[in-house]
Amino acid sequence: MTIAIHPSIDRGLPPAAPGFAGGTLVCKCTDHPVKVRVDAQSAHNHACGCTKCWKPKGYFFSMVAVAPRDKVTVVENGDKLKIVDSSATIQRYACTGCGVHMHGRIENTGHPFYGLDFIHTELSAETGWSPPEFAAFVSSIIESGANPANQDAVRARLRELHLEPYDCLSPPLMDFIATHIAKASGALAA
Ligand SMILES: [Zn+2]
Ligand SMILES: [Zn+2]
Repeated sequence: MTIAIHPSIDRGLPPAAPGFAGGTLVCKCTDHPVKVRVDAQSAHNHACGCTKCWKPKGYFFSMVAVAPRDKVTVVENGDKLKIVDSSATIQRYACTGCGVHMHGRIENTGHPFYGLDFIHTELSAETGWSPPEFAAFVSSIIESGANPANQDAVRARLRELHLEPYDCLSPPLMDFIATHIAKASGALAA
């Protein structure tokens, strides 16, 4: 049996469409759904196994990307949104009706990812978003209840999908974070 990673990823995603300029994320509510417009192509899309990202029911991975925060606008029924955990670095805005996370925002201006909102492009009917490039926090799915004995098979399946598995973020993103920290501390010239 093929190991399920995420419904959108298992189905196979089309490549990013040239010139794609965004779309509208819609929550799962049939009545008064929350709509969030993203006026940009997504970046750094990936499968994420952490315990915090919103995932479809029955799956251990989310599919999460970023977009510039000034390109992310709540356009309908924003009164249904509530921050999941206001003490978390990423303020994840979830729909109180269906539980879907619509966007995640970092308010700490010193954070390496400040200025980027976290989004789940599967919530949009438009096609052409950048597809996932790697898998992050793969070991963390165990914290959500995945069987540790299956991890080799999960990593093999991710590689088959061309999503290199990492247990943190990808090396370029980890380097990006470390560079930001080094500049802030003075270890590297800003
Ligand atoms: Zn909803
Ligand atoms: Zn995550």
